[in-house]
Formats: sequence, C-alpha cells, structure tokens
Amino acid sequence: MLNKKFDIIVLGAGAAGLMTALTAAQRNKTVLVLEKSNKAGKKILMSGGGRSNFTNLYVEAENFLSNNPHFCKSALKRYTPDDFIAMVQKHGIDYEEKKHHQLFCINSSKDILNMLIEECTELGVEIHTDAETEKVVKINKEGAEPLYEVTSVFNSKTSTEKTALQCKSLVVATGALSIPTLGGSGFGYELAKEFKLPLVPRRASLVPFMFSDEIKGLCERLTGLSAPVDIISNGMNFSESMLFTHRGLSGPAILQISNYWNPGDEITINLLPEINASEMLLIKKIEDPRTSIKKHLNDLLPKALVLELEEMCWPDYKDHMLAEISKENIQNIGNFLNAWSLKPAATEGYRTAEVTLGGVDTDVINSKTMETKDHPGLFFVGEVLDVTGHLGGYNFQWAWASGYSAGLVV
Ligand SMILES: Cc1cc2nc3c(=O)[nH]c(=O)nc-3n(C[C@H](O)[C@H](O)[C@H](O)COP(=O)(O)OP(=O)(O)OC[C@H]3O[C@@H](n4cnc5c(N)ncnc54)[C@H](O)[C@@H]3O)c2cc1C
Repeated sequence: MLNKKFDIIVLGAGAAGLMTALTAAQRNKTVLVLEKSNKAGKKILMSGGGRSNFTNLYVEAENFLSNNPHFCKSALKRYTPDDFIAMVQKHGIDYEEKKHHQLFCINSSKDILNMLIEECTELGVEIHTDAETEKVVKINKEGAEPLYEVTSVFNSKTSTEKTALQCKSLVVATGALSIPTLGGSGFGYELAKEFKLPLVPRRASLVPFMFSDEIKGLCERLTGLSAPVDIISNGMNFSESMLFTHRGLSGPAILQISNYWNPGDEITINLLPEINASEMLLIKKIEDPRTSIKKHLNDLLPKALVLELEEMCWPDYKDHMLAEISKENIQNIGNFLNAWSLKPAATEGYRTAEVTLGGVDTDVINSKTMETKDHPGLFFVGEVLDVTGHLGGYNFQWAWASGYSAGLVV
C-alpha cells in the first residue's frame, strides 16, 4: 500500500529528477518519484550515442542560452563537473575525455543511469514508473505552509484508478518536448501555466537542418559524408564537423548553430577553415597555372563534395586550367568556399532534437534553489526551465546542478 504523504514528490525520473531525489534523500527526507513512462532515464540511456556525454570539464555560463544569462551561474557554481565526476568515480565507472573536454562513459550510458538509481534506492527513494500525473493542486491552510496534492494514475497502461498524494515540496522535472518516444512532454509547461508562471517561447534545438531548394538534392547525394567546417549564424561561430544526410545537414557544427538559428536566417559555412581559399587559388594560378581548381580542392575536401560544388558554383570553368580563369572569378570561387551561405527551410523538429530551447521563464524562479518565487514549495529543475546548453555535456551538467540545488532545500 503506497504511503500517501511525502516530504517531496518529484515528477519525472530523468537526469534532473533523479539528482533532486537523491540529494533530498541524503537529508533524510521522504521522496517519491513519479515517472510517466515505463522506464526511468530514457534520455540518459540514449545520450552520447549510448555512451552518455555526462558532463564537460569546462562549464561556463557562456555555454548556455537563456533570456536571463546570469540565472544558471549560481547552480553551476554550487554543483560543478568535479562533483559529478566524484560520484562517477565512487561507482567505479570508466570514462574518458574526448575533444572539447567532453566526458563520456567508456562502456555504456547505462552506467550513469544505474548509478543514479542505485544512489536513490540506497537512500530509500521510491521510484514508480508508469505513473501518470493528471493534476496538481496547491492546498493553502491558514497559518500552515502550503501542501501540494498530486493526482496520479499508477500502472497507467492497465489502470485508470486515481491516487491522491500529498507533499510539502513538489519538484517538476518533466523535461521538455524533444523526442516524445523518450519521454518528451509539455506537461511541465502546462503545469506552469496553471500556476500562472510565464513561459519563454519554445522550439526544437540541437537539431539537424532540412532544405527545400537545390541543397536538398546535394545533401541526398552526399549522404554520410562529413567535413570539418566553421559555421556562423547570428554572430555565433563554431568549429566542428558537419554531416550530409538524406534530409539535409547534421553533425556537431549544425547542432551547435541550431541553438542560435531562427527560421528564415541564413547560415554561413566555411568549408576551408584554416585556409584563405582565394589567396590559395591565386597562388596556384601563378605557381601551377596548368592545373584545375578541382585538383587543388581534392587535396583538401572530399572528392564527391568538390564535384557537387563545382557543378553548383563554377560549372563553366570545370574543364578550365587556372591560367584561363580570371583573377576576379577565382576570388569569387574562393570567397564562396570560405563563406557558403545557405538558408535552411526548417529544422527536423522535436522528433530528433536533443533539446528544447526556451521554457519556464527564469524570472519567476529563485536561481539558488529553483523554487518558484510566488509558490513556496513548487520547484522546477532541468530542461523544463528556460536554460539550454551547447552540445558537449552541458545540458546534463545543468540537469545535475539544478537538481542538486533544489535537492538541498526541498
Ligand atoms: C538523443 C539525445 C541525446 C542526448 N545526449 C546528451 C548528451 O550526451 N549530453 C548532454 O549533456 N545532454 C544530452 N541530451 C540532452 C539531455 O538528455 C537533456 O537535456 C536532459 O535529459 C534533461 O534532463 P531532465 O531531467 O530535465 O529531462 P529528461 O531527462 O527528459 O527527464 C524528464 C522525465 O520526465 C518524464 N515525464 C514527462 N512528463 C511527465 C509527467 N507528466 N509525469 C511524470 N513524468 C513525466 C519523462 O518521461 C522523462 O523521464 C540528449 C538528448 C537526447 C534527446
């Protein structure tokens, strides 16, 4: 028989919810975690290609987007990557540092989920999966602190029976809209609206781009090919690899820039990041005038990409020697290679996005505790808030840090 009263109820057994639960349980609080899907931590399991990029060695406020760029600072300082690494080491989990200081499990992201569940279990946290929460009501009794009543359906696949539970602190850790099959849900936003909390507009992010013009066909033909690029949009710049897919463009460079891209914006891709392409081709025109543009680009870029670029950008000169191409035309081709401007038609949307940009407006949240300013006892942690990290372990670090900050005070 389920106890009906808890110090803390956490909605959502993802990264932020489990971290809140275990931190609160360390303070001898009674904690219940309600998870609507059939398994805790589905996104943790899928993260980092199955090996979870669980944090980054260098985490700064600059790695996050939010309407209030200062909001994340306090929590990130309170719980650092070193703190999480200490837990990973305590559990004997093998991990490695990859490029850009990203930390990954060597074996499997299951190690991270098992670690969190183990910590919760040892501390007596109750975790119920298939527990669908339908309603949350604040009960105000004169002279007493508010209580939250949560109405949930347990074994929601087979039962419709509702159970009412009460807690002093309710933690909303239901994540965001990305990837519905991994638990993506708008429940946290709906709850925020019921409590009259403002929302920052949301959209899919860390997400591939799609194209409707000639670039669509080019991407289809180059599917699977990748190249290191510099990519710019709205004043942000990332140096990473870009991948052509049958739908458009993906890879770390594209995912990173998608955080800064708005529909209708252009992206600019430098295909030869270390090289001034005009200068290089003009020097070749003098040194090696009987060679073609393609010959020199084939040494620097995948051949299939060079062929596509040639058809698109300098079809009239493809059979010409550099000696036969004017300085101005060579400069134009070089400028194109260093600043290829493209206009994505759309992103792939929540179906494949790693995160949701926007969320519960942080203006109404205490940055030290994650408690709502107008509703004592009501907390929001993790991705449901308007805090979104760059690619590279930053989103998990936000989940750990915000969950920990709430767990200390709930
Ligand atoms: C494919 C993929 C790979 C990723 N890889 C990385 C990575 O390597 N590194 C990184 O830093 N970030 C990564 N991310 C982002 C990261 O997973 C999220 O930012 C992080 O999981 C957010 O944590 P959260 O606890 O706020 O939300 P979630 O982890 O999404 O957890 C929310 C939980 O709440 C549950 N829930 C939803 N609604 C309800 C409800 N009404 N009642 C009860 N429960 C509910 C959901 O089922 C889910 O279990 C990845 C994301 C995806 C989709």
